[in-house]
Amino acid sequence: MIVNMSEGATEDQINHIIDRIREAGYQPHVTRGTSKTIVAAVGSGRRHEIEALQVAPGVENVVPIAQPFKLVSRQVKPHRTIVRVGEVEIGGDTVVVIAGPCSVESREQLVNTAHAVKKAGASMLRGGAYKPRTSPYDFQGLGVEALKILREAGDETGLPVVTEVMGTEDVDLICEYADMLQVGARNMQNFNLLRRLATVQKPVLLKRGPSATVKEWLLAAEYLLAGGNRDVVLCERGIKTFETETRNTMDLSAVALAHELSHLPVVADPSHGTGKQSLIAAMSRAAVAVGADGLIIEVHPCPERALSDGPQSLDFVAFEKVMRGLTDPLREITGLVARA
Ligand code: PEP
Ligand code: MN
Repeated sequence: MIVNMSEGATEDQINHIIDRIREAGYQPHVTRGTSKTIVAAVGSGRRHEIEALQVAPGVENVVPIAQPFKLVSRQVKPHRTIVRVGEVEIGGDTVVVIAGPCSVESREQLVNTAHAVKKAGASMLRGGAYKPRTSPYDFQGLGVEALKILREAGDETGLPVVTEVMGTEDVDLICEYADMLQVGARNMQNFNLLRRLATVQKPVLLKRGPSATVKEWLLAAEYLLAGGNRDVVLCERGIKTFETETRNTMDLSAVALAHELSHLPVVADPSHGTGKQSLIAAMSRAAVAVGADGLIIEVHPCPERALSDGPQSLDFVAFEKVMRGLTDPLREITGLVARA
């Protein structure tokens, strides 16, 4: 339930509502807007006691939260969330590009990539240290050695780094080295991991599961917010469909829909979304057009030698071209005169 406070509600009136929500068995979550305050009653408690608050002083109305995800929903927090990773803001006015290899393979590979992507305009560095591979015989990542390399490359270039955490046992170690923790698509509903990440002081990049609905994705994010971590960025990385020409089907409508339903920033991953180098430029532009707050793109000094995801990785020249293409205007529409 949501208690919308009226414009002139006093601090005492707001505090009274917070107390009453607790007494009714719910957790209160307060969102202060420029003119109005919203107090959400989240969890399970005695609903009729919240409904009765309609007549409490300073209350405009009491309405149910329409969606199963609560803290993630725009109803609870109408204005957009900006997630800060170091000096970088995701969810603000500008599009943030996160780039780097699928896996950290060596110091030289990562440091060279970090410098190249920075020069081309990226503002964050990615790189996998612990890799969720479909086959147990494939490269599994360099682990802690990769974390050290990531930190070094991040410090050398000033780019904040994001890397995947696959299990609860790795959380503390990864927090020592990374600026942002990625929950991979295969782990989107690893509820133990989500509950653990809800308690860390680092932002989380939550990838959509390949077979997850938007509702399930936002409910996964709800675990993080409900447990106390509000710094969550959603990432659309493609879903499974009947199509076999692309690795996944990049669901751009989900980017727009997630924005409609949630205040959290949304980034798009055209690398995993398509699995094809040749489609990255087009899908990056498309993602920005539908409102993505950022892009995460795989870049490798020599994709043909990459230990993972070579076919979808761009070399430095191709990445630079993608970056330049992002600012190209859309084509003219027949019959529509361009606005000055
Ligand atoms: C990755 O980012 O390299 C990765 C494994 O992503 P996903 O979890 O989306 O497959
Ligand atoms: Mn990858």
